[in-house]
Amino acid sequence: MSDRLHTLSGYLYEYQKSVSQPEEFWARIADSFFWRKRWSKVLDWNFEKPDVKWFTDGKLNITENIFERQLFTHADQPAIIWEPNDPDETGRTLTYRELYEEVCRFANVLKSKGIQKGDRVIIYMPMVPEAAVAMLACARIGAIHSVVFAGFSASALADRIQDCKAKAVLTSDGNFRGNKKIPVKAVVDESLNKASVETVIVYKRTGQEVTMKEGRDYWWHELVEGQSTKNQAEVMDSEDMLFILYTSGSTGKPKGVVHTTGGYMVYTKYSFENVFQYSPGDIYWCTADIGWITGHSYIVYGPLLAGATSLMFEGVPTYPNPGRFWQIVEKHKVNQFYTAPTAIRALQAFGTEPVEGYDLSSLKVLGSVGEPINEEAWHWYHTHIGKGKCPIVDTWWQTETGGIMVSPLAGITPTKPAYATLPLPGIQLCIVDADGKELTGNGVEGNLCIKFPWPSMIRTTYGDHDRCRKTYFSTYKGMYFTGDGVKRDHDGYYRILGRVDDVINVSGHRMGTAEVENAINEHPLVIESAVVGYPHEVKGQGIYAYVICDMKNRTEENLVNEIKDTVSKIIGPIAKPDKIQIVPGLPKTRSGKIMRRILRKVAEGITENMGDTSTLLDPEVVNQIIQGRK
Ligand code: ATP
Ligand code: MG
Repeated sequence: MSDRLHTLSGYLYEYQKSVSQPEEFWARIADSFFWRKRWSKVLDWNFEKPDVKWFTDGKLNITENIFERQLFTHADQPAIIWEPNDPDETGRTLTYRELYEEVCRFANVLKSKGIQKGDRVIIYMPMVPEAAVAMLACARIGAIHSVVFAGFSASALADRIQDCKAKAVLTSDGNFRGNKKIPVKAVVDESLNKASVETVIVYKRTGQEVTMKEGRDYWWHELVEGQSTKNQAEVMDSEDMLFILYTSGSTGKPKGVVHTTGGYMVYTKYSFENVFQYSPGDIYWCTADIGWITGHSYIVYGPLLAGATSLMFEGVPTYPNPGRFWQIVEKHKVNQFYTAPTAIRALQAFGTEPVEGYDLSSLKVLGSVGEPINEEAWHWYHTHIGKGKCPIVDTWWQTETGGIMVSPLAGITPTKPAYATLPLPGIQLCIVDADGKELTGNGVEGNLCIKFPWPSMIRTTYGDHDRCRKTYFSTYKGMYFTGDGVKRDHDGYYRILGRVDDVINVSGHRMGTAEVENAINEHPLVIESAVVGYPHEVKGQGIYAYVICDMKNRTEENLVNEIKDTVSKIIGPIAKPDKIQIVPGLPKTRSGKIMRRILRKVAEGITENMGDTSTLLDPEVVNQIIQGRK
């Protein structure tokens, strides 16, 4: 059953209802799920502690809602279409029935290894269907999964194993990524010199040599052999933990964000259907890794709860060539395509040639997530990928929010480049100034908070509830603070400006770093830029810009002046960067976010103690940036 909205007036009506009668609203949505026992109370909440409970006393299993609830109607429909790294390797398709049987078999394996309800299990696996099987098998038996991106180092992995005191690690021998074969099990082995677990289960993907420790390490295929394809799902409480996911760490040490069962289930399905306007039979593709929240909510849980076909891609956008994404779209006739601005910009740099020649006419909806999408990238995506006919859903949300908070509903909400537009039903946004005073009306700018609970919100940070309180609920009394700056324009549309720490105050003028970056990026030779503030004697804060560019035959001085002129023209002289450093690369997290805290330190003249950089893609770039400091 679908709770899809179809018109703008329908959305506006539902939104009003969700605010005036939130409990009735969410009870109605939740009623279309399969509950072993219905809840006794829809919502209990206290943002001071914080303590939030949705669907109190409700009993359910999220996998019964993916499988048993819809097996009659969906058994033979594809649940997961898997596209391997190498286009010459044959892919796989798992129907709902096949996925269900795999999940049950692996759930039985986990139980046979003594894993029980409440135990933590680390999943450190490549993008293969078994990674989704692993997550769902944990959920089936009530174990709490914590997926760690399979590109993280042994020490980052060990930290997470220790932080959640995991009982088992599910992994693979290796991982194909582009033209590389990456060792995965070897990294697990190294991490287990520091941390320890009882069981390691290894899925054979690359066939590369690995060492197996007797009594601890087992092959996936050997354990599932002969297991029953039935498994009685564990009955969970609405508020039992479903998973722990560590944030990307772009603002500090990663936090173990905890999501629980009932509310997360209700919100991910509802938001998936509405944002992407998924229709039965559509092929939906989200390019995220399952190691990020986007992969959890919008590759696995949301789509599968909605009975959708979710495409899963093992590889990278540029292998064997930068047309790979578009080749996959053509091959599988993808209808909804969801990716990140960092990928769009990377592909944009190759021009339109790799796009041409592929039939992208199946596309109906394009999505963006992870950071503000700059206008140039928005237009490129819209024109060259969507051919001007696909709405772009710029979805703003966080690991902590569990699901999309602000986004157009595809084809329903009129879009505006670089605007995430309007909140989803049930999401009560609030813009506050530095003192926590709510800024009402339109044409305002400040800090983005959410003043009322929503079902998929963070419940705690694992093992340290006070960190959750301090980070999200103590800055502004009675509100969840997102950490992001936002502008509500004269139409009431929301535009995310980036982290509040990234809002720069130059001589009393507040500017989002994204705004300045957009202007810099308008210079034709600029590939990418990152802007931070630094203490300035006269202006309070000065603007320091790190810019990656194609130098052509300009001198650095010429280029720097041209960039300053560009910014002056677009925003005004006030936004002209005080310092511009041409850099070979930017410090990005594995999920593609710029780690600005490092750039801020360098701009301030600090060159050591960079904090936790374990989630950086290429730590070497930090040294290069320090050396070229202005
Ligand atoms: P940490 O909290 O450890 O610093 P992180 O915030 O980078 O890590 P995520 O939860 O993956 O980890 O990222 C959420 C953040 O990404 C948001 O707070 C916002 O700054 C940014 N973001 C996500 N989507 C969008 C979007 N559509 N537009 C603008 N910003 C976005
Ligand atoms: Mg964050």
